[in-house]
Amino acid sequence: MSQLALEHGAINLSQGFPDFSPPAMLLDRVNHYLRSGHNQYAPMSGTPALREAVARKISLSYGKDVNAETDITITSGATTALFCAIEAFVHPGDEVIVFDPAYDSYEPAIVLAGGKAVHLPLTTPGFSIDWNLVEKMITPQTSMIIINSPHNPTGAVLSAADIQSLREIVRDTRIILLSDEVYEHMVFNGARHESLLRDDGLAARSLVVSSFGKTFHATGWKVGYCVAPPQLMKGFQEIYQFVQFCVVTPIQLALADFLVDHPEHYMELPDFYSRKRDKFAKLLEESRFRITPSSGTYFQLADYSEISDASDTEFTRWMTVEKGVAAIPISVFYESPPQQQLIRFCFAKNDDTLEKAAKILCKI
Ligand code: PMP
Repeated sequence: MSQLALEHGAINLSQGFPDFSPPAMLLDRVNHYLRSGHNQYAPMSGTPALREAVARKISLSYGKDVNAETDITITSGATTALFCAIEAFVHPGDEVIVFDPAYDSYEPAIVLAGGKAVHLPLTTPGFSIDWNLVEKMITPQTSMIIINSPHNPTGAVLSAADIQSLREIVRDTRIILLSDEVYEHMVFNGARHESLLRDDGLAARSLVVSSFGKTFHATGWKVGYCVAPPQLMKGFQEIYQFVQFCVVTPIQLALADFLVDHPEHYMELPDFYSRKRDKFAKLLEESRFRITPSSGTYFQLADYSEISDASDTEFTRWMTVEKGVAAIPISVFYESPPQQQLIRFCFAKNDDTLEKAAKILCKI
């Protein structure tokens, strides 16, 4: 959709990336390290300073002490972390439970590892997990469950009750949890992010993945991390060392400084993004799109059934080419798409961009 938006000069609210810059002070730190000779390989698991800074962030955010030496690996974006976690712990014949709509990088990695993705639909409205169904679908072959909260593409977030259900379901199993928490600092309405790192029992069987790209408005840097207990991290690194080995040194050093000096950046992110979510929703009040404000992420689903009967892929294509605003169809995130007319907008945009897009959307 980004390519189509480019070709047709459309406002791009499709792919998830901000149209504003990372904090100036972070850019200054990158510049500083680039210019002062920090341009060679970093240690495999990441620069010690960044691992320490991530451990501190986790302690401040979730009250969990993780060992910066043994439990954290800095990766080339969350994508690499997800891939390595899956290749390390999914074996031929294994089943992996994923929830549809699901982020698109999970299944190819599962298939490559020789496993099978077992797709369970999130229940609508609200896009929540039916834990009774999960329990029924677990077999002796189930080696992993992948969860993603806050959730792309729906903006749903898991609650403490969800985590309790998860805890009960996996208690007597050897299932490993892969928790995609790249939008961890974008949870709205005063709710807290239910990271698996908050729960010692679950954290002991989990690989938790996050992305600096999302948190620092720098998706193009592709820097993220994986947190796991030593016995899991060892298996993870056996794959990671031959996939990537290590991540851009000056960026790691800059992120470490910025995390330590400006924790308010990620602490204030929920307010920053909920203001954008509310602004976008207000701008669309006059439109024929129907919106339930998202609970997290920088995505907003919109129902277009009052406007068109077309499929979501046809509708988003038409909207991009004919009207000049690009969005993402939701059906592409499903194995078997249900009957629904939903598209996803990214509101990580300057107010000016949101206003221009909304002006068009209100006329559709
Ligand atoms: N998981 C989810 C749910 C995402 O939305 C994204 C980015 N679109 C990623 C992982 C990948 O993050 P990164 O850019 O850090 O590789």
